[in-house]
Amino acid sequence: MDKVNILGVNVDMVTIDEAADAILSFLDEDRLHTVFTPNSEIIMAAYRDKAFCDILNSSDLLTADGIGVVYASKMLKKPISERAAGYDIACRVLDDIKDTDHKLYLFGGKPGVAEIAKEKLEEKYSGIKIAGTHDGYFKEDEEAQIVEDINRSGADIVFVCLGAPKQEKWIAKYRDKLETRVAMGIGGSLDVFAGTALRAPDFYCKHGLEWFYRLKKEPWRIGRMMDLPKFAVTVLLHGRKYKQN
Ligand code: UDP
Repeated sequence: MDKVNILGVNVDMVTIDEAADAILSFLDEDRLHTVFTPNSEIIMAAYRDKAFCDILNSSDLLTADGIGVVYASKMLKKPISERAAGYDIACRVLDDIKDTDHKLYLFGGKPGVAEIAKEKLEEKYSGIKIAGTHDGYFKEDEEAQIVEDINRSGADIVFVCLGAPKQEKWIAKYRDKLETRVAMGIGGSLDVFAGTALRAPDFYCKHGLEWFYRLKKEPWRIGRMMDLPKFAVTVLLHGRKYKQN
């Protein structure tokens, strides 16, 4: 897969469908594959933190979850054709595996959210096999037990929804212990599946304004969102210094 190097992060130039196809092919290989979906805030975090940047670059699939990342790829003359958000990729994967024997584990969110998401997903993707759930609020000494529960469930895919960068770091920490074939870090997606958070209406998504919708709904995000203009300026000033493959 062709990649674009955005401030040191090697993002795969894939569409939602191509990303979902890659994940389905990962299910045929008997090893863990990690999938992360960085937006501009996450790339800025990686720009500041080399260890986090290495975690992102060690993944098997890294998709552009944000219009800022898509614009950055265009500025660098390696255009990604669409935003490939974790939530959208997950929906396509769910649709594809619902009539197969593949099993899913839902990890993250406030207590109770993963169970509601399980019920909603079982309604929407009839036939889907959800082998287990766990909330995302735990102490460090409980983590081994969570890994054990994921492994014992026999799940092939685990959605890790702890928010960034916690989910990426958690997956990296346990990559040698997890026995699933795919571990995907997909932020607040469980809240959307459960209906405890709403996705931005189509209008906002189509016009690259999802960030604005989220800011209206969750104004406390303003601090984190200041990374958006910083990201644009940093790509403009320094983006071309990074070697493209
Ligand atoms: N979360 C969690 N454990 C934590 C912190 C956050 O499970 O210690 C969950 C939180 O409940 C929410 C998700 O992680 O469901 C983060 O969602 P957000 O939309 O903030 O993440 P993003 O996709 O923006 O990274």
